[in-house]
Amino acid sequence: MKRLFIVLLLIGVLGMPLPSLVAQRRKPAAASPAAIATQRGVDQITAAQMRAFLSFIASDEMEGRDTPSRGLDTTAKFLAMNLARWGFKPAGDEGSYLQHIALKRERVDATQTRVELNGQALTVGDDYIPAAASGGVSGQLVFAGSGWYVKSKNLDPYKDIDAKGKIAIIFVSPMALPHGVRFGDLGKQGEDWLNPPDNARKHGVAGLIYVPDFQYLANWERNRQRTMERGSTVVEKFIKPGRTPLPVIIASPKVATAMFQGERRGANTLFEETLIGGEQATPPFELSATKKLSINVAVNTETVGTQNVVAVWEGSDPVLKDEYVALGAHYDHVGICAPGAADQICNGADDDGSGTTALLAMAEGLAHAAVRPKRSVLFVWHCGEEKGLWGSQYFTDNPTIPLDHIVTQLNIDMIGRSKKEGDTNPRNRTLTGPNDIYVIGHAMMSTELGQLCEAVNKSYLNLGYDFRYDDPQDPNRFFFRSDHYNYARKGIPIIFFFDGEHEDYHRPGDEVQKIDFQKMEKVTRTIYMTLWEVANRATRPKVDKGLPAQVTGRSGV
Ligand SMILES: [Zn+2]
Repeated sequence: MKRLFIVLLLIGVLGMPLPSLVAQRRKPAAASPAAIATQRGVDQITAAQMRAFLSFIASDEMEGRDTPSRGLDTTAKFLAMNLARWGFKPAGDEGSYLQHIALKRERVDATQTRVELNGQALTVGDDYIPAAASGGVSGQLVFAGSGWYVKSKNLDPYKDIDAKGKIAIIFVSPMALPHGVRFGDLGKQGEDWLNPPDNARKHGVAGLIYVPDFQYLANWERNRQRTMERGSTVVEKFIKPGRTPLPVIIASPKVATAMFQGERRGANTLFEETLIGGEQATPPFELSATKKLSINVAVNTETVGTQNVVAVWEGSDPVLKDEYVALGAHYDHVGICAPGAADQICNGADDDGSGTTALLAMAEGLAHAAVRPKRSVLFVWHCGEEKGLWGSQYFTDNPTIPLDHIVTQLNIDMIGRSKKEGDTNPRNRTLTGPNDIYVIGHAMMSTELGQLCEAVNKSYLNLGYDFRYDDPQDPNRFFFRSDHYNYARKGIPIIFFFDGEHEDYHRPGDEVQKIDFQKMEKVTRTIYMTLWEVANRATRPKVDKGLPAQVTGRSGV
């Protein structure tokens, strides 16, 4: 029954039989599915070709492709050079392949930065790390627990204290939710929960002092370098007008102890209660009125640039070529991630050198195909994904082609690693095998796209498509963690291909030698055939389902 359904689907829905090994043996005639596949250029996509591309993209010379960086710019030039060579239409700014994105970078000016506790100057970098945002404040101190507002957990630190115009001290894991709170407890941002800075701002707090967790303290030197020397970089167009950041410093244990000297609770107790979680936590309180702290953070501001790489392969149908099937990957990664270590570069061979390479291989496939697809194909290599999906947010907010002409977006983020037989490393627990891949979101908005996606795979290489993460409620939240999210939020149906997390995720070990190029070839060829089927359909995949509520309200944590 199932097989029959698929055969009907292939002929009825896709309009053209797909290549399958069975069909290939039965019908070796000129128009056989295998011949069609060849005509489309799928054989151009090979493990050897991808090894060559990725060996450049994930080389140490690219320095981990941080956004912005010289390595990222060089990678963009490498992509553009190949696109020009193959005759792609530039779809960035002013007839180029690059869509320029202006960034504002702020770095702490240590010589002009001053923090005093009871008139005593503290040492920048040792006693505290200032966040790279300029501003000054002086005043009384309040202890505000974790700083979070979470309605479902009765976390509301400013409820019973007057924090207006004062400086709040919060004990916080900088990147994590407060102790005892899970994503499922959050609900809607702004109504059901607020992160510490937003919550502080809402209650008129004038400055923040973070007392960080053990993990942050263990990497104090690296955090100091990152925060003070690398500074903070934001996309200029994303800055909300009229929103000045609060002055923030991160306090060393020495300063934390000094601040709570003689108070009703010492810093150690509060640290334990708030960050480790005890029987009961001390409620927020105001510190003695004689204790004064002043913060004056000075920063140097400069404008720097980065870019998405955007290209179009024009379709052959005079009408349908105005519509696009979009392919996406992020070509950035996290840069020099372990300064001082023997191997300090996070090369991002899998994340997302593999997707970057897969797109380039598909571009070469199209360029060498005997025919063109009916619809056009849009290629976007996004920057800044690792910074918070910058490139895809920027492209979907400032598209260089009309967004409603994009019929589907196929996003590739990590398809190069596979779990070896007998691998018992728990960190590779969810890594997919050599013939398997996670497929996320394929039927979330369009039933037709979901059917097409599965049918193409079954009739072609029949990889093990694993749909276990295809659930916006999944605690891993993969749906929110890559660029397709920004296309989905604009109503474009997406499919996301992903190999799973592994031991080298965001570490210097994510290197070319560990890539399974046979797997990359299989997955990339399958995505390529999917692209062709979407591009040649008589009608665009119908969006017949609304996005789930969890998808429209991104947590932003
Ligand atoms: Zn990634």
